[in-house]
Amino acid sequence: MFDKSHCSECENIDCLTRCQWIDIDKETARTEMGKMINGEDSFVLKECVTCFACEEYCPYDSHPFDLKTELQEKYNSLNIDPKLIDNIIKQMEPPDDLRIKEIDPDKPVFHKCTFSRMNPEEMKGQMFENLQYISGRAFFCNLMYHHVARDSVIRERLPIVMENIKKHGIQEFICWHDECYGLWTSYCQRNNIDVPFKPIHLFEYVYNYLKDHESEINKLNMKIAYQRNCSNRFIPETDKWVDKICELIGVERVAREYDRENALCCGGPFGWLGKGNLVRPTQNKNIKDMINNGAEACVYNCPMCKDVLGSKVERKGLKNYLLSDLARMALGEKLNY
Ligand code: SF4
Ligand code: SF4
Repeated sequence: MFDKSHCSECENIDCLTRCQWIDIDKETARTEMGKMINGEDSFVLKECVTCFACEEYCPYDSHPFDLKTELQEKYNSLNIDPKLIDNIIKQMEPPDDLRIKEIDPDKPVFHKCTFSRMNPEEMKGQMFENLQYISGRAFFCNLMYHHVARDSVIRERLPIVMENIKKHGIQEFICWHDECYGLWTSYCQRNNIDVPFKPIHLFEYVYNYLKDHESEINKLNMKIAYQRNCSNRFIPETDKWVDKICELIGVERVAREYDRENALCCGGPFGWLGKGNLVRPTQNKNIKDMINNGAEACVYNCPMCKDVLGSKVERKGLKNYLLSDLARMALGEKLNY
C-alpha cells in the first residue's frame, strides 16, 4: 500500500528520477508524482515498463509502485490487448478441485510454484530430493499480474491461495521464486495482511544446506554475472544470500554496471506492453556488460529471465545457470540439461 507521508519532504523524487526507463527531470517528477498522489493520470503510467525498481529506489519505503500499478489499472495505461489480458488471467486461475496432499508439518515443504512444468530437472538433486512439495496454480502467488496492471487479480486470489496452503497444515515452506517469497513477506506486510505460515527464501535454504555439507563442496572458481530479477526489488534484503552462496562455492559475482540496484530487466514483459523495440537494445547492453567484466556465465534466480535471456547469452559464448545449479555443481552433481 502506497504511503504518501514522506513525499512532500522528499528531496530527489528518486522513484522517478532514478527510473531507467523514463527520462524525467526533478521538477517534472515532482509535478507528475503530485498528480498521481491525487489519483490523476500521468504520462509516467504509460511509459513505465513495470520493472518494480522504484520500490527499491524510494528512500522512505513508501512503495511507489503500489500507487503506479493501482493507477495503471484505473486508467488502463498499459494499453494491453484485453483478449491477451484475459488469457493471461485465466492461465493461472486457482483450480476449483483442490486435491489435498498429505503433508507432514514437521518436515520441510518445497513450494515449486508452476515452474516445475518448465524444467523439472532444475528442482532435482540432493538438496531437493527429500523434500515434500506443493506446486501448481492452487498455490501460485499471482504477483506477475503487476506486469499487466491487474492488482485486483492478486487481491482477489490471495485469500484463496492462502487458504489452500492452510488446508495442508503447512507452517513453513521454501519458495522457489522471489515472487512467491515477495508475496508473503512484502506484499502482505505492506497491505496489512496476516500471514499464518513462514516462507523461507530458496537462497537461504540453499546456503544453509551448503553450510551443513561444507566438507563436500568443490570450489567452482568461476566468474559469473548475476541477473537480478524484477521481483527481487520487493525483497532486496535477500540479495545478500547470492553473495554468501557465491563465496561459499568459490564463485565471483563480477562487479558490473547492470547488477544490484542498477539491475536491468530481462525484457520479458516488454512484448505484452507493446514495447518490443526495447528488447534488443536492453539485452545487448546487459550481455555486453557481462562480457566486458569477465563473466563466463550468466546466473539467475528467475527461470523466466533465464528463458528470455538464455539463448542470446549462449550465442555470445556464456553459459546459463540458476544459482541453485551452481550449488549442485559445487556438491559434485552433474546437470543433465
Ligand atoms: S514515493 Fe518515495 S521516492 Fe517517490 S516521492 Fe514519495 S518518498 Fe520520494
Ligand atoms: S516500475 Fe520501473 S519503469 Fe515503472 S516507474 Fe518504477 S522504476 Fe520506472
